[in-house]
Amino acid sequence: MHNLSINDLARGLREKHFSSAELTEHFLKRIKQFNPKLNAFITITETAAIKAAKEADHKLATKEAGPLTGIPIAHKDIFCTDGIKTSCGSKILDNFIAPYDATVVQQLKQAGAVLVGKTNMDEFAMGSSNETSYYGPVHNPWDHDYVPGGSSGGSAAAVAARLAPLATGTDTGGSIRQPAALTGITGLKPTYGRVSRYGMIAFASSLDQGGPFASSAEDCAHLLNAMSGFDDKDSTSVNIAVPDYTASLNQSLKGKRIGLPKEYFGDGLNAEVAARIQDAIRAYEKLGATIKEISLPNTGLSVPVYYVIAPAECSSNLARYDGVRYGYRCDKPKDLEDLYKRSRSEGFGNEVKRRIMIGTYVLSAGYYDAFYIKAQKIRRLICNDFINAFKEVDIILSPSTPAPAFKIGEKTSDPISMYLSDIYTIAINLAGLPGISVPAGFVNGLPVGMQLIGNLFAEATLLNFAHAYQTVTDWHRTIPQEFAS
Ligand code: GLN
Repeated sequence: MHNLSINDLARGLREKHFSSAELTEHFLKRIKQFNPKLNAFITITETAAIKAAKEADHKLATKEAGPLTGIPIAHKDIFCTDGIKTSCGSKILDNFIAPYDATVVQQLKQAGAVLVGKTNMDEFAMGSSNETSYYGPVHNPWDHDYVPGGSSGGSAAAVAARLAPLATGTDTGGSIRQPAALTGITGLKPTYGRVSRYGMIAFASSLDQGGPFASSAEDCAHLLNAMSGFDDKDSTSVNIAVPDYTASLNQSLKGKRIGLPKEYFGDGLNAEVAARIQDAIRAYEKLGATIKEISLPNTGLSVPVYYVIAPAECSSNLARYDGVRYGYRCDKPKDLEDLYKRSRSEGFGNEVKRRIMIGTYVLSAGYYDAFYIKAQKIRRLICNDFINAFKEVDIILSPSTPAPAFKIGEKTSDPISMYLSDIYTIAINLAGLPGISVPAGFVNGLPVGMQLIGNLFAEATLLNFAHAYQTVTDWHRTIPQEFAS
């Protein structure tokens, strides 16, 4: 059952080949069997899952079911879940039971999806390897010595090992696309404003966006259908209609124009990864698309700009964790200042502290203009690069990451090299655009991801391109042997 697509699962449920209770038990059994090796889940919601599955079976029996009714899902532990621990990968929220559901969680409940657990993640979504989690690293299902990517590494590993058919993630600078690439699955970062951020714990509010993980573009389309839409509880939610993302999956690519940004194929790109991406480009030519070299001249500035803006926003967002209202509180504080200081210094991990310090510095009087304002100006130039590119092409294609997964521990003492693993994904968040990572082959047994970047709200185009590729390739169907049967 864990190898079936969402369409097949929905049909199986409808035609009573299996019930949601059976399907949910099947995935829960896999989670219990494999999670000790992968550490993909922080919380397993077994009792609630079985109850929700029985409710779904009832809906299925009364024909009130939608495409996701009765289908198991895992949520990144950044989404607030009513009555369920929501840790954001941090000690400071280890004791936090959310008192309400994030909009995304509510939407998926309404769609009838069955929550099986909350997935491990880098602390407050800061990281590219899942090693900054208070709950320890997640292991890549393809080789347990390697990272699954981050920050949504638990969700990506869970789907790659088929511990859940669907999972949610969030992407601030690459945290859906990079782990999707490193674990060989499909992950989509929607346009900023497409998916509600209400109840999604904030890291960098002008960049954060939730999105789907699944084994194929078609399955991502189903999940995106349920996650998208206007939410008046999120002031940056955009009120435009949500198309049915599954409706345009099979459109022809004949005459469609693909842009290859020359800055994404230069120094620093692993030659084997480049070769896999060239194969994908040839597949698109066979599908009738035309290929054109383009330029995104400010690409080199995206990582430095991100590491001013994201820490600035995080230092402000994380000021709420003060040991007073909720979350971790230090033992026996002497006075209020001691309470703040020790709660925060004992509750946050090193990467989070590094970001708060950078953010506080770039926002301080005297440095604000030189760093923060300057970064915002460059952000505009980066947006303009994409606006110009989309005058010439329908979609932009690149590698998702410069190299396949790296070993656990390999980059922990070198934050700059860690930050560079997002070099092809970060600009897309700065510009608010949608992007998808699609499995495009292997290098030494580790998956390689291809990134497709679309214009604002062009998720349907991205999914159409990704699905077309997946009709002529099998990379997305390949499962690590250990998890196949
Ligand atoms: N790796 C990037 C960071 O650490 C992006 C993280 C993300 O997208 N949440 O900030």
